[in-house]
Amino acid sequence: MFLDRLPPVGKRLARGDTFSFACHRSLSCFNSCCRNKHLPLTPYDILRMKKALKLHSDDFLEKYSLYRVDPNSGFPVLSVNMVGETGVCPFLGPEGCTVYDDRPTACRLFPLGRCSGVNLRGAVLEEVFYLLDAPNCGGVEEQESQTVEEWIDDQGLPPYIRMNDRMLGLLFHPRTNASGDLDCHQQQKVMVACYNIDLFREFVLKTGFGERFRLERETVERVMESDEALLNLGFSYLEQALFPARGSE
Ligand code: SF4
Ligand code: SF4
Repeated sequence: MFLDRLPPVGKRLARGDTFSFACHRSLSCFNSCCRNKHLPLTPYDILRMKKALKLHSDDFLEKYSLYRVDPNSGFPVLSVNMVGETGVCPFLGPEGCTVYDDRPTACRLFPLGRCSGVNLRGAVLEEVFYLLDAPNCGGVEEQESQTVEEWIDDQGLPPYIRMNDRMLGLLFHPRTNASGDLDCHQQQKVMVACYNIDLFREFVLKTGFGERFRLERETVERVMESDEALLNLGFSYLEQALFPARGSE
C-alpha cells in the first residue's frame, strides 16, 4: 500500500533520474527557508538529534517537539516546535543549521519528497521521489545536476530511509484493525518505544521486559549500548504489541 497523495505520474522520479539543485551561502535565500513550515520528526530523526544535543529523549520531546494524532492511522505524529512569531526552526543559527550532521530526514531530502509504502502481500517496499514546489528557493535554479541516488548518498540518507521505512511498516501493517484507530494506551506505547527511547531503555532494563519477551542476553547488551538497536527492538515490540498474530490475541 502506498501513502496517499502520490505525485502525478509525470512528476515522479526514480533513483536513477536526475534533477538540478545546489544550496550554498552565496544565494540570497540562504538561511531563509528554515522557518514557517511543518517539519516532521521521525523516530530516527529524534534519535539522531537528541544524541547530538546530548539530551534525554524526554527532554528533547518536551523542548523541541509538537504532538498530534494522525486521523487516518491513529498513530502519534511529531514535528519541530517552531519558535517566535515568524516560526523559526529552533536549530537555526547565524551560520546555518546547528544540527547539520544530524538534521532530520525532510531537511536532508529537500528539494525532494519521497513516498514509500509496503505491499500488503508482504514487506516489499516501493518508493517514488518528486521535486517539491519551492518558489522561493534559489537552489532549484542552479545548474548542478545529480541523480536521486547520488543525492541520497551525499545527504547521508540511507540509515534514515531504512529506519523510516520500518516505521512505515507499522503504519501500514496488514493486521491494522478495520477502523485504523489506536487507543490512548497503544498511542503511549508508540510514543515510548519509538520516540522516547531513553525511557524505553529504562523500561527494557528495569521491568522484566527481557524475560517476558525472551530476549537473548546479547540483545539486551546491544540495546544498552546502541540507540539504533534499541529503536529496532522498539519496532519489533510494537509489531507484537499492536498487531498480535492471529491466534495469539
Ligand atoms: S533542522 Fe536545520 S536544516 Fe532543518 S529546518 Fe532546522 S535549521 Fe533548517
Ligand atoms: S531556500 Fe533553497 S537554496 Fe536557499 S538556503 Fe534554503 S534550501 Fe538552500
